[in-house]
Amino acid sequence: MNRRKFLTAGGVSLAASAVAAPAIAQSVPKLNWRMTASWPKSLDTIYGGAEYLAKRVSEMTDGNFQIRTFAAGEIVPALQVLDAVQNGTVEMGHTASYYYVGKDPTFTFDSTVPYGMNFRGMNAWLRHGGGLELIQEFMAGYNIISFPAGNTGTQAGGWWRKEINTVDDLKGIKFRIGGWGGAVLTKLGVVPQQIGGPDIYPALEKGTIDAAEWVGPYDDEKLGFYKIAKYYYAPGWWEGQTNLSVYINLAAWNSLPKVYQSIIQVAAGDATTWVLGKYDIDNPAALRRLIAAGTQLRYFSRPIMEACFKASRELYAEESARNPKFKKIFDNWSPFLATEDEWFRVEEQQFDNFMYAKVGAG
Ligand code: CA
Repeated sequence: MNRRKFLTAGGVSLAASAVAAPAIAQSVPKLNWRMTASWPKSLDTIYGGAEYLAKRVSEMTDGNFQIRTFAAGEIVPALQVLDAVQNGTVEMGHTASYYYVGKDPTFTFDSTVPYGMNFRGMNAWLRHGGGLELIQEFMAGYNIISFPAGNTGTQAGGWWRKEINTVDDLKGIKFRIGGWGGAVLTKLGVVPQQIGGPDIYPALEKGTIDAAEWVGPYDDEKLGFYKIAKYYYAPGWWEGQTNLSVYINLAAWNSLPKVYQSIIQVAAGDATTWVLGKYDIDNPAALRRLIAAGTQLRYFSRPIMEACFKASRELYAEESARNPKFKKIFDNWSPFLATEDEWFRVEEQQFDNFMYAKVGAG
């Protein structure tokens, strides 16, 4: 039964149905927005996640809300997504907030904190621990609202031209590293370089940098680092998980009907598990290919892990003392991490250790 017949059958006048029509039209306006991403198109995981988000929004609005996705460099370079959304050049961005720690280290909480949470902890903190509210309060200062819109899981420890056996071996290494892990490594003599995805390979090839990390085997293979650096380290302790964010200009967000606001949040949540699942299925096969091609897998030594951990906690204490915005979130984040890890060590750790040992035993 169509709406008009129903209303007529119910004795409602045609005038009443005519009044209802404009409200329906307004709730699904035709919109064309632009979303600039920090990623090259070649990365079907992370750039693919941005495209997937846009596709889901279109599907859920019957094609009325179109978001066109742009790769790094098409509108603005990889590391200028924040500025482009803040000043309204584009309505939306897909990025990692830790690219902006140079403006304020508080941005790190929205992506990852070195020696911080895994995906499970981050998800709980953002959704139920007050994390997202704290981040959105901070982001409002940049005229932006953000939502989680992708996750890489635990990242790899990067590509190194020579083996790193001792803490002293880190001294003087020019290392491309995303986010605030660079500030931790500075304390151990590393010279961190923040370089956008498309520009890392040429820098490594020219020798402008000695080592580089990006995400993990699948992306790293596409970017070609294994052709230049032989040693592939684990784990990427600076990124126990990395949350990717969709940024929306606040004025643009406030102009949206409530239903579109909800749809963006649903699509972003869907993109989060889409990206994470894609990494988790593509990384194992890529790692096998890389090792077959001659990559040497190495683990950071316990002394290196401990020294970097100690440096990270010193850095957080220093930043908390000088930066009230950082301290406000850290004072919520830090006890949450401890509580989660206390729980995960009981069940997850026992189960995971047993199962992974079985795989190791063939
Ligand atoms: Ca990384």
